Amino acid sequence: MPRNKKSPSNEILLGIDLGGTKILAGAFDSSIRLLGSAKRPTLREVGPDGVTARIVETVTEALQTAGRSLHEVTGVGIGAPGPLDPDTGVVLTTPNLGWENFPLAAKLSEALGKPVFLDNDVKLAALGETRHGAAVGANSVVALWVGTGIGGGVLVGGRLVHGAGKNAAELGHMVVKANGPRCGCGVRGHLEALASRSSIERDLREAVAWGTKSRLERLVKKNKTRQIRSSELYRAYEKGDDLTRRLIHRAARYIGIGVGNMLNILSPERVVLGGGIFEAFGEDLLERIKTSARKNSFDVAFDACEIVIAKLGEEAGVIGAAELAKDKLGERRNAGR
Ligand SMILES: [Zn+2]
Repeated sequence: MPRNKKSPSNEILLGIDLGGTKILAGAFDSSIRLLGSAKRPTLREVGPDGVTARIVETVTEALQTAGRSLHEVTGVGIGAPGPLDPDTGVVLTTPNLGWENFPLAAKLSEALGKPVFLDNDVKLAALGETRHGAAVGANSVVALWVGTGIGGGVLVGGRLVHGAGKNAAELGHMVVKANGPRCGCGVRGHLEALASRSSIERDLREAVAWGTKSRLERLVKKNKTRQIRSSELYRAYEKGDDLTRRLIHRAARYIGIGVGNMLNILSPERVVLGGGIFEAFGEDLLERIKTSARKNSFDVAFDACEIVIAKLGEEAGVIGAAELAKDKLGERRNAGR
């Protein structure tokens, strides 16, 4: 993107990634170089206004780490779990946080005295990877984020696709198995119900309850409520635990089906796979996913696409959020406001 002449060179942009368990914030210069960052637990039980106050604390700490002040900040981008309205900055519902119709952008803007722009967390991670990570140089990108749930982002011509309902690219909620297991959203056979960390955990717990042996058996039996981390799944997988390998391989096959669907629909230049599962498994599942994607898509689409693992780790979201703020401020300046 060409540098806007009117843009002050010492401007600071803030990028925030609001998740169900943690808040990440970064302070960036106008070239979206990270100058300082901070992280703290979300503590969803404090409610939306309490969480907004925690975001302000996190941002303040990120600015301190960067040795900069709020006076220098020109704009703020924030990613949150959806569905949400990126135009009004309202979070419509988040099962993760238990919020409904919360005007996050307006509340945060009031607290910071700065313009705040909101978008979906995974969409912003996709934007981050496209501008600075695994999808640099690609014009059309599909990002699939596999963690507790499954999120997605689609970019065409370098821009995020939002669609008529403003919440396009919910890739975790494409049907990959008719009448399959029920998804958290209520529909059967969604990708999220077959390949997310929580779906793997659900089936692992069920199999152990039925007497299947597993290295994770003690963890599962000892602790009925704490979630099994992606890193714990990876350790069991690496050590050859049969049950874990079976469930992970099933997840990889379905992720491949999902990717294959996207190849046939959009024929993107690049597919980026990210989120907790890929942060833990790295490239270990990539060949399996590619094999399944190839089997489920046209050769012309498969051959024209590179399927890669995300590069930016948990920073993808804050980098994308800062890019969102930069884009939106640029649009405002160009509109002469
Ligand atoms: Zn669903």
